Amino acid sequence: MINRPRIFSLDDTQQSVLNEHGFHGQDILSVNQFTPASLDYIFDVAEEMRAMVGRKGGADLLQGRVLSCLFYEPSTRTSASFIAAMERLGGSVIPITQGVQFSSVSKGETLHDTIRTLEQYSDVIVLRHPEKGAAAIAAAAADIPVINAGDGAGEHPTQALLDLFTIREELGRLDGLHIAMVGDLRYGRTVHSLTQLLTGYDVQLSFVSPEILRLPLDYMNQVRDAGKTVRETYSVADVIASADVLYVTRVQKERFTDLAQYEEVKDFYRITPELMDRAKPNAIVMHPLPRVNEIDVRVDTDPRAAYFRQVKNGMYIRMALLAAVLGKA
Ligand code: ASP
Repeated sequence: MINRPRIFSLDDTQQSVLNEHGFHGQDILSVNQFTPASLDYIFDVAEEMRAMVGRKGGADLLQGRVLSCLFYEPSTRTSASFIAAMERLGGSVIPITQGVQFSSVSKGETLHDTIRTLEQYSDVIVLRHPEKGAAAIAAAAADIPVINAGDGAGEHPTQALLDLFTIREELGRLDGLHIAMVGDLRYGRTVHSLTQLLTGYDVQLSFVSPEILRLPLDYMNQVRDAGKTVRETYSVADVIASADVLYVTRVQKERFTDLAQYEEVKDFYRITPELMDRAKPNAIVMHPLPRVNEIDVRVDTDPRAAYFRQVKNGMYIRMALLAAVLGKA
């Protein structure tokens, strides 16, 4: 156990802002819970977390607090990111990320009972589940905050926050940008969450996908209702020269019932250095990761490849969210 010096705490003003935004004790289930003002607040805290990590590596803000990290779907990044976030703030983690099929879940225990059990041990639960709506069910069962780390093809709100934070950090603003989402817009939950968040900003959106992976109508309607300029196309060539952000996604193999259909679309897009030659000099390429073939590894050395910086931002955002829902200070 590392003894961390007390180096980071919120002052009275910051504490009252945090209370005012009402995160303390709250679940994080959907991006719809956030307003531009509350996002700014979380982003400001995330920036403080970044500075603190840069200075000292960690703090004792969440010392004595326990996070249950319950993942019913494979995850490397998101689970590691939450674990790193909690540990850098001095808290501890019960990681239930491996072999969950051998646990009580496979013995038929309901999600409700698993959540009720874990809340006896912990102060906050992070849940990833293959079914849309599972996080809301867990939140209804628990008295402690539940954070949705991906519910099937539903939402992935913490990823969307870190995506938005990354755009802001990389390009210095959100308004006035052209953001192109590329790939599996049908099943990609990160796209669903980020798209909803972006409706709150003055952005132009392009959706680039094969026909069978188009953005679901309810999300498209939200974008249209918000009065955004929207373009749908099959071709990256249509957007490459004007996009400020290329948000590239993996085709979500695990959501397909017909694998032959997956094979047809899995290599539909590939971002290459040759394609990047046609992009704006200050455009950025993002990806929620893991990538399969959709971004050529040669793009990694292009300074516009922001996907690994995006990963690091995820830790700062999750530090800010954990501190916020646990009322810390
Ligand atoms: N890691 C992201 C998610 O959990 C993206 C992906 O898996 O393709 O949704």
